[in-house]
Amino acid sequence: MIPITSQIDLLQLASGDNLSIQVYKFIGKQPGKKVYIQSNLHGSEIVGNAVIHQLIEFLRELDEDRITGEIWLVPVCNPLGTNQRSHFFSSGRFNSYDGRDWNRIFWDYEKDCEDLATFVKTQKNLGIKEVRKNFLEKQKAAFAKQLERIQKPSSVPYRDRYRYQLQSLCLDADFVIDIHSSSNQGIDYLYCFHGREESAKYFLLEYGILMTEYDGNAFDEAFMKPWLALEKQLTKLGKAIKFDLEAWTLELGSGMQMNPESVEVGVRGIKNYLAYKGILTLAEYSVNYPASTEIQLVRRDRIKNYYAIAGGMIQKRVPLKTSVKAGDRLYQLLSFNKSGDLPTAIDICAETDGLVFDISTNQSVNQGEYVLGILNFEL
Ligand SMILES: [Zn+2]
Repeated sequence: MIPITSQIDLLQLASGDNLSIQVYKFIGKQPGKKVYIQSNLHGSEIVGNAVIHQLIEFLRELDEDRITGEIWLVPVCNPLGTNQRSHFFSSGRFNSYDGRDWNRIFWDYEKDCEDLATFVKTQKNLGIKEVRKNFLEKQKAAFAKQLERIQKPSSVPYRDRYRYQLQSLCLDADFVIDIHSSSNQGIDYLYCFHGREESAKYFLLEYGILMTEYDGNAFDEAFMKPWLALEKQLTKLGKAIKFDLEAWTLELGSGMQMNPESVEVGVRGIKNYLAYKGILTLAEYSVNYPASTEIQLVRRDRIKNYYAIAGGMIQKRVPLKTSVKAGDRLYQLLSFNKSGDLPTAIDICAETDGLVFDISTNQSVNQGEYVLGILNFEL
């Protein structure tokens, strides 16, 4: 089937040129759930663009009766970040105007919704569909105020204008998938919200990070947190409801690269997840469908990052995806001095057991610079 495309202007540059994004919408024959998938919010994390391209190619070949609901796809969703360079290198993680992380800017209704407890009391005798509809309407009304701010003569900074455009595409979605990668070099994994662990295994990934605390205003959080807060309030009133709403951040490999294996992992996982959710009907899975694999989830607070204890050069570092034991050498820091002494090689050893899931691309580090990250599965 042919997707419907639409363009959204984001930013007019001083030169008069415009930056914009393009949405590809595949609308199934039967109405149903809406999934929203975007990539490249962080400028160097380009892998999701190849994933979305492959999904578009795949969906184009499908008959419309194989899709129930809607699939919205937005590749290169942050042109300002994607195009940013420093020498040959894409940085694009931070907005150069204000230094903010592009994935910590989103509007979080949980923080804005002051009367949630009062609202919940009015909903306690209603069915789940009705509660969802009512809360979405409430959220939309508050979101409309964001547009009013933008349209005032005083207007708003670009980050607020930008977030409005992205969030307006997915506020009413059922499932949101935001495709990232390491800015350095990383394994393939996902971020999972508490209470949504059951669905995580349908992405067919080996590892996931369970969010125990929130960084604040990330894209996935901004979508999920209001609904999680609503679920919590309803449970307090003795009405335990779980909305079929989910948000996922996929981390697929390394920055500035579209590693073919990571692309394949992403495409396979998303297709399978959409089939699990009943959005895609895939004949090829008809026997044992949908597939699922055991995913090892580790709490976010069990990530241990290692930073350089001194300035120097990284050598003899263990490769990505190495399982280490406490006391194993992780890398050697080749340390130079200006005190007349010979250079030294300092062994840096693991504090705990774990899996090396992310390593810095740059092997030259100033003191305090990030070197690698370890997932410690002991809970
Ligand atoms: Zn990212």
